[in-house]
Amino acid sequence: MAGLSELLANGRRLAFVIDIERYITMPRKTILTPACEKRVFELALNAKRILAVILGAAAVTLALPALASASYGWPVKPFGQEHPIRGQLNDPRMNSPVFYSSSSHTFHFGVDIAAPDGTAVYAVAPGRVHYVNPSDISIRGTKGTSNFAYWHIRPIVKNGKSVRLHALLGYIEPERGHVHFAENRNGHYINPLRRGGVTPYTDTTQPTIASLSYYDGTYHDLTNATVSGAVKLTVNAFDTPQLVSNWPWAVVTPAWIGWQLFDGNGQKIKTGHWDLGSALCPLDPLEVFAPGTLKNNWYGAGSYNYWLGQEWDTTRVQNGTFWLVVTAADIRGNETTKTVSFTVANEPATSTPA
Ligand SMILES: [Zn+2]
Repeated sequence: MAGLSELLANGRRLAFVIDIERYITMPRKTILTPACEKRVFELALNAKRILAVILGAAAVTLALPALASASYGWPVKPFGQEHPIRGQLNDPRMNSPVFYSSSSHTFHFGVDIAAPDGTAVYAVAPGRVHYVNPSDISIRGTKGTSNFAYWHIRPIVKNGKSVRLHALLGYIEPERGHVHFAENRNGHYINPLRRGGVTPYTDTTQPTIASLSYYDGTYHDLTNATVSGAVKLTVNAFDTPQLVSNWPWAVVTPAWIGWQLFDGNGQKIKTGHWDLGSALCPLDPLEVFAPGTLKNNWYGAGSYNYWLGQEWDTTRVQNGTFWLVVTAADIRGNETTKTVSFTVANEPATSTPA
């Protein structure tokens, strides 16, 4: 097992290697017959092969839009210094604290910049003032440049008026504790935290993958589980904001969640990803978020559950061991990978006598 030990040096794959070590070593205590010993040896070889496949395949590429735009400063002072973020583009948003009990389910269309109530908010680019609501304005740039939205403020600028770069727009409304800041380019909301957006912005925290589960009305840990029939795979994941905000418990969505499913021979069965980092997600939020998803609130952290694609019909594969590899990455490419193995065990098809 020298090869595996070397891989231990790779911290990001640690959890996966531990899983494999356990996979290889565990059955020896329980298996007695030579035939079974042989099978364990085969499984160990398979595990090494799968590991090699996965290490080569799981690298993340964030497909971020190539926008020929100059970066811009922050909408609160100091303009040239990073401010805490407590909401990310594509966070789950709804009109009740619990996503699935809400009548309105949406993706968050900007970022929430935390700042005390009453903080002055300034234009990050020149343009014309447009009122969306009495406390929500946007500044429309000239053709080909972005429109920027500044919500939850008490504006001091008049509708239709032109404002210059760094013009004072208004003050954060009481009990908001943040300005909702969004960037719209050609009718699409894009991520202000991308490279080339608001500057400076750093993100060195790694996303957290809290659990990999399957859902059948309740959540079950997928680790070493036995499943059959139609299976809905899920991940609970989040990223930790770089700077602590006035909601220190706030979590944000990873910018990218990818998954790969391998069978016991290392063959890839299923793969997919959610791009939540580049632009406002065009999908139905219920296609992405799984039950129990909760937004951040004044009383505590949110909980973000994601479907890993659509329902998977396990009757179409042979019974045996499978590996699920899930990677979550943030907008700066910091990534975390979690791997679990589980068993598919469907009853053999029975034929009804004529
Ligand atoms: Zn917001």
